[in-house]
Amino acid sequence: MSGTESLTLHVPSLEELAEVLQNGLKKNFEDVKVLVVECPDLTCQPFAFPVKGICGKPRIADVGGEKNIFPAVRFDKVYDINTVAKEIQLPGAYMLGAGAVAYRTIGVNAELIHSIKAETEHEPAVNGSYLARVNPTDGECVLEKYSEKYKDCDFGLTANLYASEGQSGKVIEVKANKRTGGDDFVGSMRKALEQHYGEKTVGLGGTFLIQEGKAKIHVMPHKFPPCNFESEEAFNHWLKYYEMSAPLICQSVFVSRDPGLDLRLEHTHCFSHHGDGGHYHYDITPDTIQYLGYFHPAELLFRVDRPGNYK
Ligand code: ZN
Repeated sequence: MSGTESLTLHVPSLEELAEVLQNGLKKNFEDVKVLVVECPDLTCQPFAFPVKGICGKPRIADVGGEKNIFPAVRFDKVYDINTVAKEIQLPGAYMLGAGAVAYRTIGVNAELIHSIKAETEHEPAVNGSYLARVNPTDGECVLEKYSEKYKDCDFGLTANLYASEGQSGKVIEVKANKRTGGDDFVGSMRKALEQHYGEKTVGLGGTFLIQEGKAKIHVMPHKFPPCNFESEEAFNHWLKYYEMSAPLICQSVFVSRDPGLDLRLEHTHCFSHHGDGGHYHYDITPDTIQYLGYFHPAELLFRVDRPGNYK
């Protein structure tokens, strides 16, 4: 890794953010309630995170990027969560988010659903992440707990991570039921931030449940094609798409705008306790969909190993 760039984000009060998100979600959902609450204990089901909350020195890390996948796959792009935690000046951070596995560890492609506490001087890492891959035999999705098979803290190609000390504290609780507009849950919130804050960059991370309904999810096929992708469309066509059912636990990171760091504006991966998991696109059952999420604004954003900055 080289040349990590950093940016101080605009951090509105939680009360102000709650109002902005409430107004934005109202454009796309019939029943919306956004409040400032004490973060529920995320060590409990259905989250079962290795930490209680998402508070304490909150920051976002945008690592690598889709340019590491197309046009040419960069198998050499392997990152270690413990190294990333140091790179963003928060050793021992709890990180949640969306990324890809390191091909060299798993031997196939897979979506990584991050929920991992990096190591400290005194304690080893606690890896609660999941991976979702395609079974080449029947084309079905296979969801596995990362630590049941693999001992490292590696990922590959790209990841969008929200990092904190994993402490309890105040967060924004977002409830949104019955979608009436064209923007999905994450898109509604991100656009609300973009429209309200304009040139100021605001970044949020957190976790949300899809409590009822179904969502469109993709998982990367198990092997990359023999040739480079001709276009982004070719890459999107190559992905395998599923309709997955609630309850889904989604790890989400989004920023209001890209201030010129080649950022991914939103990225959400989900896991479940019934075998479903992958990259969340949007819900496909607007009449019955129910979301419940917990989010916190980040103070800093780190652009780690930005593609095109290779040395
Ligand atoms: Zn993804």
